[in-house]
Amino acid sequence: MSLVVVGSMAFDDIETPFGKSNKIVGGAATYIAWCASNFTGVKQISVVGGDFPEEELEALTERNVLLEGVQIKKDEKSFFWAGRYHSDMNTRDTLITELNVLGDFNPVVPESYQDCEFLMLGNLSPAVQLSVINQLKNKPKLIVLDTMNFWMNVAMDDLKKVLLKIDVLLVNDSEARELSGEFSLVKAAAKIMEMGPKYLIIKKGEHGALLFYNGQVFYAPALPLEDVFDPTGAGDTFAGGFIGHLAKTKDISFENMKTAIIVGSAMASFCVEKFGVQRLKEISKNDIDERLQEFVQLVSFDIDLVS
Ligand code: AMP
Repeated sequence: MSLVVVGSMAFDDIETPFGKSNKIVGGAATYIAWCASNFTGVKQISVVGGDFPEEELEALTERNVLLEGVQIKKDEKSFFWAGRYHSDMNTRDTLITELNVLGDFNPVVPESYQDCEFLMLGNLSPAVQLSVINQLKNKPKLIVLDTMNFWMNVAMDDLKKVLLKIDVLLVNDSEARELSGEFSLVKAAAKIMEMGPKYLIIKKGEHGALLFYNGQVFYAPALPLEDVFDPTGAGDTFAGGFIGHLAKTKDISFENMKTAIIVGSAMASFCVEKFGVQRLKEISKNDIDERLQEFVQLVSFDIDLVS
């Protein structure tokens, strides 16, 4: 039984008020794999060009990330994204999206991935996400989907089709508003859940994340950090921590999802500390346990209600 991850593997060019990265390795599935592999093995589905560094693929293999489902198109270029963060570090503008190999990506799910129990559909074309679901012979125990405004703008019809087939949707607050046409996140959540997903997670950057299910809401804060260097990939890392924890524990109850969004928040707090996936490559199990402990201290309190 396994965790299958689908998503972009890319080059990114990131500009923050603190510096510029130039072209570095990124992509939704790259962040998810680096993060989730702390909890369980990962079977990756993606596509890269001949320009994607071989050592980056080897480093993932060493982390127990299986790359049989990653196509390498030798004569083509990898997906490229450039973004610039505003001074609040919470909002950004996409400057360039060059789909390159992602433009006509036709995913092939290897036979060895057919034991998929947890499916993480990271950010990429909804048609590709749908194709992967349709190629699986057995329905996974849990399907989680992440997307972004880019796909809402260019492929809304496909996105609506895939929303009908998933269990958990992850979006940020502005994407939830765009998808639902509602400003109130509570109203937006109700509308989005009518589109298919039973669970909805709305990420609010440095303001944490909300988990909606069946009329209930749970909130996980983001850790207040002294320095945020680069928020790119924080959402994907959050997703990797969320599904990584669920896949490791094999428990998809609402109670365990609450723990999973705390794990996701803890993992995202590492991601933003350095450019790209650099910080995720460095951390140990000890670092993760310590950070989770900081979360416990951040949110635990007692109230004595005086009657
Ligand atoms: P996040 O900051 O979590 O939203 O994720 C940023 C990552 O998403 C970057 O590494 C990009 O390469 C990747 N990305 C940006 N736009 C897209 C897109 N339209 N489709 C797939 N991946 C994307």
